[in-house]
Amino acid sequence: MDIKQLDKKYILPTYARAEVEFVSGDNARLVDANGKNYIDFTSGIGVVSVGHANKKVNEAICEQISNITHISNLYHIAPQAKAGQKVVEASGYDMQCFFANSGAEANEGAIKIARKWGEKDGEVKRYKIITLQQSFHGRTITTVKATGQESMHNYFGPFPDGFVYADDISSIESLLDDHTAGVMIELVQGEGGVQPQDKVEVQELAKLLKSRGILLIVDEVQTGAYRTGEFTASQVYDIQPDIITLAKGVGGGVPVGIVMTSLKGVLSAGDHGSTFGGNYLSASAVCAVVDILDEYKNSGKLQEISSYFNEKLEEFYSKNTKLFTKKVGIGMMCGLRVIDADTLASIISNATKEGVMVLKAGRNTLRFLPPLTITKEEIDEGFENLSRAVSSL
Ligand SMILES: *Cc1c(COP(=O)(O)O)cnc(C)c1O
Repeated sequence: MDIKQLDKKYILPTYARAEVEFVSGDNARLVDANGKNYIDFTSGIGVVSVGHANKKVNEAICEQISNITHISNLYHIAPQAKAGQKVVEASGYDMQCFFANSGAEANEGAIKIARKWGEKDGEVKRYKIITLQQSFHGRTITTVKATGQESMHNYFGPFPDGFVYADDISSIESLLDDHTAGVMIELVQGEGGVQPQDKVEVQELAKLLKSRGILLIVDEVQTGAYRTGEFTASQVYDIQPDIITLAKGVGGGVPVGIVMTSLKGVLSAGDHGSTFGGNYLSASAVCAVVDILDEYKNSGKLQEISSYFNEKLEEFYSKNTKLFTKKVGIGMMCGLRVIDADTLASIISNATKEGVMVLKAGRNTLRFLPPLTITKEEIDEGFENLSRAVSSL
């Protein structure tokens, strides 16, 4: 049986897959089973931050797993402690980490911290978490409910209580009450359509929450790991969240989720845990990825390639204003609003044919999440391919 038949027979049909099977990669280049070449402007939905088949990450992982892959969190795990140090130091925040395996799990951890904090903090139990209508926080029962998009709540109930949705940042204040434990937001909504929040509004929200004694939780599963220019988007927005979650890009392709918090005394032994979280394999990947990206950022190369990518995107946008209405995003998390959803679908399918991979976000946003280490040559080639993809539209 070929792969497609195996997939159909043995895999639950939860994904509408494109008819492509990739067999090898190198930085922002991919090759499919027919030998066709692609430029990857998706990095596996923001995951392969340091490119495909990154030598340093692969060497670090191989060296680690030739020794130990997994023991369990019942014992000290040196790479986990080091990964924690690297992540905290890169953020500049005075925080501690919990290691999980995905973005949803990191957000679950954040919600548990907020809920336990809310139980201890005074007589009134604070349990409500306010999120935004267009947010995306994951696929577990709790994070589906934390996700504000009504279309995600069609099945799977009953859901956990205590999630309240605000239309936008400015309407959060009117929803706060004595039971509010925290507000959870993405600084640039990813799945919601590459929608950056206004910096001043976010800073005012942070001030308001501090004055009311309510936690600010920032879901940086997509924006973190230098995607928006700094290690966290919270640094770009110059705010001090109480809890930050990371996943996607921080493991460079190895599954990992991280909750970071300045609330160091809230969880104690037995309150939370994970069999796999922060094991030797994933923690060694995080160490390598953060080392690579710290150096890349400090040398100015991240800023240089981010500017170049954005220039080329702007050029592409201005040549195709009959298809696109706006350029959006921050750093290497970018999008173009497309005139309608059908046109967006045609662009994405033509792009695959022309050898460039791009993503959809929200209803009508063409999303770009290239590897942060993409080269100028790869960027040029990607936009040449993309220009061919839209030439007939
Ligand atoms: C992808 C994403 C998640 C979910 O991460 P998983 O690893 O798929 O569980 C949560 N929040 C945001 C902002 C994301 O982009």
